[in-house]
Amino acid sequence: MSPERIKRRARKRHQEDFVKYKVDEATSVCLWTLYRTVNEGGKTEEVRRYKCFMCDKDFKNRAGLGAHHYKSHGRWAAYRQCVVGSICRACETEFWSVARLEDHLRASHSCSQQLIKQGLCTKVIQPGYGSRRRRQVEIEQFTPAAPQRAGSAPARLDEGHWSWWQQTFYQEVCQVLHVMGEEEEMPISAQLFQLIRKHPLFEEEIREALDRIEAEANALQGDPDVQPWSEQQFRIVREAVELARQFVSAATTQGTVTTEAMTRQSFRDTVKDYDWQSVVHCCPDDYVTRSSSLFILAEGWEAVWPAERGELLNIAVVKVDASPVHGFCGVWGLLAAGLFDWGKGFDHYHAWNGFSCKPVSDTDSSCMTAIGGRAIAAQAIMALVIILWAGTLSGVAFFALKMTGKLRIDEETEEAGMDLKQHSPPKAYAIGQAPPKEKQLEQGKEELEKVMTGKTVVFNDYSWSHSDSQESIEKKMQQAWDATEREENHVLLKEVAAILKKYPSLTLRLKGISSGRGQNNHITEAAFTKDFEKDFPSEPLDKREPYAHGRVLSIKRMLVKEGIKADRMLSEIVVASGSKVEMTVE
Ligand SMILES: [Zn+2]
Ligand SMILES: [Zn+2]
Repeated sequence: MSPERIKRRARKRHQEDFVKYKVDEATSVCLWTLYRTVNEGGKTEEVRRYKCFMCDKDFKNRAGLGAHHYKSHGRWAAYRQCVVGSICRACETEFWSVARLEDHLRASHSCSQQLIKQGLCTKVIQPGYGSRRRRQVEIEQFTPAAPQRAGSAPARLDEGHWSWWQQTFYQEVCQVLHVMGEEEEMPISAQLFQLIRKHPLFEEEIREALDRIEAEANALQGDPDVQPWSEQQFRIVREAVELARQFVSAATTQGTVTTEAMTRQSFRDTVKDYDWQSVVHCCPDDYVTRSSSLFILAEGWEAVWPAERGELLNIAVVKVDASPVHGFCGVWGLLAAGLFDWGKGFDHYHAWNGFSCKPVSDTDSSCMTAIGGRAIAAQAIMALVIILWAGTLSGVAFFALKMTGKLRIDEETEEAGMDLKQHSPPKAYAIGQAPPKEKQLEQGKEELEKVMTGKTVVFNDYSWSHSDSQESIEKKMQQAWDATEREENHVLLKEVAAILKKYPSLTLRLKGISSGRGQNNHITEAAFTKDFEKDFPSEPLDKREPYAHGRVLSIKRMLVKEGIKADRMLSEIVVASGSKVEMTVE
């Protein structure tokens, strides 16, 4: 072979290698980016909830609480009280309809704030978004005319204007503090709690009011001419405000969540050896409708999914209007049956006679003609009858439901969404519906026992003499506790990992048993530290039994590679006869 040809071939092979490398890297980076996007790792976040202090209900977001305040406690958004006529008096713009003025005031914070500040408000609240009356008004006042602006937009107010409910709360707290000392039945802090529970308020509104009250109380007490409270009373006031603050923050924090970060390197290693087959472990072999979930997501993803679900659903809203699909297509189906059921021009009509024509009468068997038009008319009447029939029946049914209050879904379902509450996703993806812990434990134990029957993790023996170099002794020690040395361990631990993935609530206890004759010296410790310090920094050597501990951690490392989180595994070192590692679930 000529040198030129060899060169060409080598170059070609290099190119192919490089393309493959690029594809692999691109895939890995994409997956990792996806992982990082979904799982913002390494962060400790406070989980907040939005509480209605009046009835102790929790909501996932501010909008949910706002809707509840409106529906249950009659609190409307501030801008709604300045919807008067069709002109915005803050920016002097004519919108030609109430609905459009409302759209404007909802969007323009500076306009609505200005109106509230100037007292240009009304007691008559317009019907809210989504209500039938608003739709009616919208249709009645519909106009294509463009808004006409005469003035300019007002400047944004520096300081947020307080809502009526916030002001009332503030005034009532002031009142309580003002009359303090004159015949009290209840401690001040209890009275504050009562006021917090009395109004439909958002958390930050309560805080703002409390902050202002505290600042004002300090100022008043600091002025020797005023000084409304005695030293002891003032202490009680300050304590009560602080208690109220703590009450509010305790009611609105749910706890903290720490997510685990993965570097790109460790992510790539995990994905490279990932046994994708093991994810799908619930598929039955026979062709029947499955009754269990197709996938059980790994624990981490299960936790991430409910948290991110809201966002995902927001971008994945697909609107399909039912009436064009069912109504229009249904009517067309009926008409088409009349239109296309001809044999010889429009003259003949087969209907249920199949492909023979309709005879004129029982005695005259010649074909009836010129009935195509009548057939189509009959189909059209049929369509009308069906609409009337279905409309009347469902009208009666829905009216009855409406009258008995069963037509609307309850608030909780509305919040969470019909899909999640009533339809199949919880069953299809086993979201938050993994079997209960006891059930998992029972089945997991049984399966683990089956896998472990007659088997155990085996280790090789290595002997060394004291004349060996320290490095080679360390190496041999590490090999002696290394479970990856034996092929059968890989098979066995894959099965153990599959069980742990299937039952995400279980933890694995690794009991390293050894007789207590293993020696510990600086070489053992060095070998152990070099081997495990990076992977298990929080598990320093158990000096009684370095080998047993090494075996346990080596198994742990293999299971981590199989995708099991380290915090789902517990190490235990036991000094007893024999030398093995026992695995149990709990
Ligand atoms: Zn409430
Ligand atoms: Zn305006």
